[in-house]
Amino acid sequence: MTSADNDSRLPSLAGAKWLIDPATRAVFAALLAEGAKARAVGGAVRNALMGTPVKDIDIATTALPNDVMRLAKKASLHAMPTGIEHGTVTVVAHNTPFEVTTLRRDIETFGRHARVTFTTDWHEDALRRDFTMNALYCTADGTVHDPIGGYGDLTARRVRFIGDAHARIREDYLRILRFFRFSAQLGNGVPDAEGLAAAIAEKAGLANLSGERVRTELLLLLAAPVAVEALGVMDAAGILDPWIEKPANIKRLARLADIEAVLKREGDPVLRLAALTHDKDLTAQARLQNQLRLSAAEAAHLTRAGVRDPALEPGSNERAAQVFLYRHGADAFIDGALMAWACSSDPPDDATRTWHVAMPQRWRAPELPVRGADVLELGIPAGPQVGRVIAAFENWWIAHNFPCDPERARDKLRELARL
Ligand code: ATP
Ligand code: MG
Repeated sequence: MTSADNDSRLPSLAGAKWLIDPATRAVFAALLAEGAKARAVGGAVRNALMGTPVKDIDIATTALPNDVMRLAKKASLHAMPTGIEHGTVTVVAHNTPFEVTTLRRDIETFGRHARVTFTTDWHEDALRRDFTMNALYCTADGTVHDPIGGYGDLTARRVRFIGDAHARIREDYLRILRFFRFSAQLGNGVPDAEGLAAAIAEKAGLANLSGERVRTELLLLLAAPVAVEALGVMDAAGILDPWIEKPANIKRLARLADIEAVLKREGDPVLRLAALTHDKDLTAQARLQNQLRLSAAEAAHLTRAGVRDPALEPGSNERAAQVFLYRHGADAFIDGALMAWACSSDPPDDATRTWHVAMPQRWRAPELPVRGADVLELGIPAGPQVGRVIAAFENWWIAHNFPCDPERARDKLRELARL
């Protein structure tokens, strides 16, 4: 590996918005106050150099973790020892969290846990990172440092393991998923041949990863611009096997991604997961939800994306779609209509389907004009009868096309309460 540190050919990030942001400056100022060094590293530097948006900022520093805590507090910043035994402190400035990690050398790595020693050597810190493009650093003034020559790989969009790919994967099998995630986010989805061969050879170790770690990487991968290509390679190579029974429905995923692209919608990772897996039986689905530790909202999203209903097809009448929208909401309608489209053979620019998916923009479901209190006012005692009257009213109201005249609604409610 070449040592291209502080090479004048490296571009400068001076003036980058995220770097001159008051929050970033406050954290740098706190860390540098007593002579320690600090540099942004990882995704922020990589994305900035690629011209893609910077989300969160990781900072590497020569200050020891307890000193990071102290320096942050001295600068009136909030600091939390989120992973202090591995050198990580979360420093919050202007409500923005920064992961600040002391330069380290991994002595022994076993999954997310590592036995570490702290160092002041940037090259050593770079060597323990996963990919060459993730080992680029940037000082507060925007000077880029490249201790192991990752810039060339970055410009070539080559996701290359630092050191021997097999050995690096054995230290932490999550790196297999990160390899595909970065290939899907930054490359053309066709993974680097060397890394791919190592990922396939080492795939047996994937089974022991924790659900939370897999979940994070898999959802990022699913949302990525060229997720389809990467997931296609992974499925064929059996890399998804621990979570998704083979074969995953790559064809449907590809159709959904094409539809999302034509509609200019951001890739929805959970909907895409549904497209990949919805032919599986319910046990396989429940296992997937459980294994990936999906939140209740994500699990509900995954399930509702599998709902089949004639109202989700454009051939249905507008009223059926309205009733679905009223009963299940706009998000469920859009998810269901997109999935129905992905399951069909209609092209991604199909005008009728486009019009149908946009239904929630044209029609907003009205609110039921009566409540339990209205029924109580009519002399019905609190209890199950109240719910029955409301349900009967709702059926009448839907059947009569959601009338909004309050007089008419009250008359009907009175009539139903007398029954
Ligand atoms: P993103 O933009 O998605 O946050 P990132 O590269 O910043 O991408 P993080 O998970 O935030 O990814 O990790 C920050 C940095 O820490 C990485 O760029 C990499 O240098 C290092 N890193 C993270 N996870 C690992 C890992 N499993 N093995 C080795 N290095 C890692
Ligand atoms: Mg990051």
